[in-house]
Amino acid sequence: MKAPSKAPSKAPSKAPKLAVVNLGAHGHVNPTLPVVSELVRRGVDVLYFTTAAFEAAVTATGARFFPTDSLFIRKSGEQAQEAHDSPADMVARFPLRLIEDAAHMLPQILPILEEEDPDAIWYDTMTVAGRFAAELLKIPGMLTKPSYAANRHFSLGKHLAQVDESHPARLQFKDKAQELARKWNVPALAVHELFAHAEPLNIVFMPRAFQPAGDTFDETFAFVGPSIAPRPTAGAFRHEGDDPLLFISLGTVFNNWPQFFTTCFEAFGDSPLSVVMAIGDKVDQDRLGAIPKNFRVERHVPQLDVLQQAQAFITHGGMNSTQEALYYGVPLLVIPQMMEQAATARRVEELGLGKAFLERPQVTPQSLRAAVAAVAADAQIKANVAAMQAAVRGAGGYLRAADLLAAHLTKVRAR
Ligand code: UDP
Repeated sequence: MKAPSKAPSKAPSKAPKLAVVNLGAHGHVNPTLPVVSELVRRGVDVLYFTTAAFEAAVTATGARFFPTDSLFIRKSGEQAQEAHDSPADMVARFPLRLIEDAAHMLPQILPILEEEDPDAIWYDTMTVAGRFAAELLKIPGMLTKPSYAANRHFSLGKHLAQVDESHPARLQFKDKAQELARKWNVPALAVHELFAHAEPLNIVFMPRAFQPAGDTFDETFAFVGPSIAPRPTAGAFRHEGDDPLLFISLGTVFNNWPQFFTTCFEAFGDSPLSVVMAIGDKVDQDRLGAIPKNFRVERHVPQLDVLQQAQAFITHGGMNSTQEALYYGVPLLVIPQMMEQAATARRVEELGLGKAFLERPQVTPQSLRAAVAAVAADAQIKANVAAMQAAVRGAGGYLRAADLLAAHLTKVRAR
């Protein structure tokens, strides 16, 4: 495709226009929403591309919503259904899923972006189509990362690149990257380039203190912490009573582990705790058997409300969940379900913010009970969590992200 030539300058009176291209997943969309609301409030015309499931949440920000179909999301749903794939296969397949999704999304978003001609394209680190669209249309890109940033000192992507080159998924990745490059005249990306990429502005939704090798990232990386603001479409939760509240969730993607949820029943069913457990949309609730009286089991809960009232959080270690818990000063018991979450589980232990269960056999009713009690009694963990809470809250959150994006938008419009 030929890159269209852009008008040399825009009429100064026109409202700034920003296109957001995002993966249709709670962990990717949630942190952007308060930022988008704030930008809309400041007069930015925001076009938001993601899957139809997020239409209500995006529309509530005042942005214009453009539904996209995502192969990654469709396939990751299916993959999460497969009773625990080998972690090595998951890691091998992940880059393939991203590049397939780019090939699938690019023709959906490109004509609209050409027509709308935004001043900048803000894309999520996992939305390669956004990156290519910015390159093809010669529109400045901005990047946000709901999880770790990468540079030569720290990169989770290194693990992805370590997979055997002869793995079928790796060979398919190469084919797909080359096919995409031929079709659109974009670079044929190598696996390690997927996450090493940076823009002049990169927003990371964690504080620098949580990012491994945080001090080695230059000023183009803004570590703003989680994006905490009321969620207009999320509903509300109020804990009645004085008993301590335990929150349990494996997040919204890798949560198809019924046995984990029944282990939690066994661990805490006759305890003096009240338990809120979000089981996601994959397990068959009937297979869980009788729900103990002190449990409230839901598929999806208003997580920010629950965390504000919780004493401890048993979590898969999704980055949003982790940061949201720290924002509210809640210690973590992390039971990771994939590679990135395992890194977070280790980081949580390293920083003394809770405990990690790195292997499934470690997760028993006894070990869960003991860990919750130990974390509650640990003054050092409490102090570390309070210090990290201060860092998280001091990072600036969605308002700082909006300031930075708005300033950058002004800068690129002036060029
Ligand atoms: N979430 C929620 N209610 C739930 C489960 C999750 O509101 O019952 C939100 C949570 O607050 C977070 C996001 O969904 O913002 C999950 O993102 P995370 O990175 O923690 O994990 P993922 O679901 O992507 O594995």
